[in-house]
Amino acid sequence: MFEKILIANRGEIALRVIRAAREMGIRTVAVHSTADSDAMHVRMADEAVCIGPPPSSASYLSFPAIISACEITGAQAIHPGYGFLSENAAFVQAVEDHGITFIGPTAEHIRIMGDKITAKETAKRLGIPVVPGSEGGVSSIADARRICAEIGYPVIIKATAGGGGRGMKVARSEKELENALSTARSEAKAAFGNDEVYIEKYLTTPRHIEIQVFGDGKGKAVHLGERDCSLQRRHQKVFEEAPGPAISAEERAHIGAVCANAVASINYIGAGTIEFLYENGEFYFIEMNTRLQVEHPVTEAIFGVDLVREQIRVAEGLPMSFGQEDLVINGHAIEVRINAEKLPSFSPCPGRITQYHAPGGLGVRMDSALYDGYRIPPYYDSLIGKLIVHGRDRPEALARLARALSELIVDGVDTTIPLFHRLLEEEAIKTGEYNIHWLERWLEEAYS
Ligand code: ADP
Repeated sequence: MFEKILIANRGEIALRVIRAAREMGIRTVAVHSTADSDAMHVRMADEAVCIGPPPSSASYLSFPAIISACEITGAQAIHPGYGFLSENAAFVQAVEDHGITFIGPTAEHIRIMGDKITAKETAKRLGIPVVPGSEGGVSSIADARRICAEIGYPVIIKATAGGGGRGMKVARSEKELENALSTARSEAKAAFGNDEVYIEKYLTTPRHIEIQVFGDGKGKAVHLGERDCSLQRRHQKVFEEAPGPAISAEERAHIGAVCANAVASINYIGAGTIEFLYENGEFYFIEMNTRLQVEHPVTEAIFGVDLVREQIRVAEGLPMSFGQEDLVINGHAIEVRINAEKLPSFSPCPGRITQYHAPGGLGVRMDSALYDGYRIPPYYDSLIGKLIVHGRDRPEALARLARALSELIVDGVDTTIPLFHRLLEEEAIKTGEYNIHWLERWLEEAYS
């Protein structure tokens, strides 16, 4: 059993991991940059180590700083949270080379789901349905024309090394193709230092549906249904729910089993998410995240499980505490991401929190590292909290969300809270009839 683990992260996700560890009787080590000396995760952990100056590259992304912090404190394992080093195969390798356990998948699992072409090839090999498109990279316009004629327009040209919603260009007809291909390649080169691109059929009205999987590393894996994360702005998720309003029990069982079998076959260990676009009853793989997701609490709410606890258990070599037959959906859950951002531009709004009051009551969970007087540093992302509600059904969850939002107070900085008050008035949110483009269009109108 681990006696002590280090959390290589900050903010709400560091607290999330500390909470699970404490319930398991495991001591925790927080790491922090000098900008985070007053952060809640530093206060809440049993021990804390300063690992460097504010820029992430010199602190939260520094292999030697984090590994030394482990060695100094005697932590036996590292939980990476999400973001930062959570999907860095070289980091996982370095951690294991130092005899420390990485709480997550192996370096090899991260690699085969790493760049987008490799991930797509892996998915195909594992029997996961993918978006029709090129086999690997495309460089010549002649090849591009041939592929697009086969799959039909519109198409999307994506950077192999892309991520974070960047490096994508749509071509609606053959006329637009040449220009789109050369722009995509030069943008990819500039943004990622690699001009390799590939082509996919562009889906016009899909939903973003992701399947939560979990493996024990010994050939056993389960799925925990889907999350619908279609409400996005610039490919960034804003509002997530489970189960997905458009997914039937049969579809869930089918795609869930495909995903669970796929990860079981590679002895996947820990939590993972297989992301799909979903249109006209078909699922199309886009990527796999080999880590815990920001939106994991909606899945925890409807299945009544603690995914972080489970991650720690399997990393220790223990079996999962549930099998597929134990995983039964109970009710409906919704998460909204509270960001310190100014509307309507969504520009980051760091600063001092003059008053913070978290909502409570039945079916309400607030994951946040805020406190009265906390100063949000300008160096990191703008997520300051996640409000998660759980109800017996979707209407109850929506009503509870409106009620919880009305209790939530975050004063001193601008936040995205007013956005959710307005969104909840919308018919499409009440009925669940939205797709990945809905929010952008609504924002244009609502804030014009
Ligand atoms: P990233 O890794 O940069 O987030 P993804 O491949 O996960 O890129 O795609 C991000 C988003 O881009 C998707 O959620 C979807 O909104 C859009 N997208 C990606 N591929 C397609 C496609 N083939 N058709 C339509 N939209 C797409």
